[in-house]
Amino acid sequence: MAKETTEASFKELLDKYDIKPTKSLGQNFLIDNFALNCIIDALELKDNDTVVEIGAGLGTMSKEIAKRTENFIAVEIDKHLMPCLNDSLREYEKVRIINADFLELDLESEISSLPVSDPGTVKIAGNLPYYITTPIIMKLLEMDINIEIMVVMVQKEVVDRMIAKPGTSQYGPLAVALQYFFQHEILFNVPPHCFYPKPKVSSTVVRFRKQKNYVNKVHNKKLFFEVVKASFEQRRKTIINSLSNSTTLKFLSLDKEVIKSILDEVNIDSNIRGEALSLEQFVNLTNVIDKYIDNIEGCPYIRKTP
Ligand code: SAM
Repeated sequence: MAKETTEASFKELLDKYDIKPTKSLGQNFLIDNFALNCIIDALELKDNDTVVEIGAGLGTMSKEIAKRTENFIAVEIDKHLMPCLNDSLREYEKVRIINADFLELDLESEISSLPVSDPGTVKIAGNLPYYITTPIIMKLLEMDINIEIMVVMVQKEVVDRMIAKPGTSQYGPLAVALQYFFQHEILFNVPPHCFYPKPKVSSTVVRFRKQKNYVNKVHNKKLFFEVVKASFEQRRKTIINSLSNSTTLKFLSLDKEVIKSILDEVNIDSNIRGEALSLEQFVNLTNVIDKYIDNIEGCPYIRKTP
């Protein structure tokens, strides 16, 4: 398991590479070995797993992953951290270190171009930068990657949004999409003193496992995201108004009467707000809109992903 990393030795490492943590990039580096080892265990790594680490930092977690699998992509945006990250992973030649903004990265092609005959299952790891946690997770969910497990460390308020239930102020596209595709386990909290520099709040490690008990299957993944986002675009509007005014669904030209009949078909009261819809209702609603789209001649819209 990982060598002892104390705050003092970590500061030495920063000095050696002349690194000053950048607050705006969410750079609170994990320096606690116990937490690190628990995260690594939670990934349940096997030899041929493909692992993507988002925000590799100085490579503390990356090194532990690299020891366990060769199919490893470590993504880090900050070029100032590259010399240290490269040195940390020097003995693991097959690791692909990518200096890029994860949100801009074509991860699907990075994974498919890994020089391995069997990419195994894909696992995601990350002590995620707090300022873009939601866009990172949404990107992962929207991509066509078969993710088996994600173990992420996030701020507690983000966990609340991830596991929120209908009718609450935290319920939104993140909760709906995550709960559709994954089952979650809240593993443990990591207090501020486990990081350098210390953040103001505690973090929580959550494991997401690919969903086994779908409430119902979405027939069109891309449309599912559009419907969910449209339903929350203006939270105070009724679902019928949200769907008819939505910028994302506008080009389908669904007029209010059509939307009303779609909502009737899935037994959704057109006057409730999007935030009151259950996961199952979102799935049913998407599938009925999908059926409707199928009847529009030459609809340019949809890439089908069962
Ligand atoms: N994994 C390291 C650890 O646990 O010590 C670092 C975690 S730190 C909370 C978040 C890391 O994400 C930082 O190294 C930061 O530079 C990086 N980061 C921030 N924004 C990013 C982005 N858009 N794409 C990739 N990495 C990013």
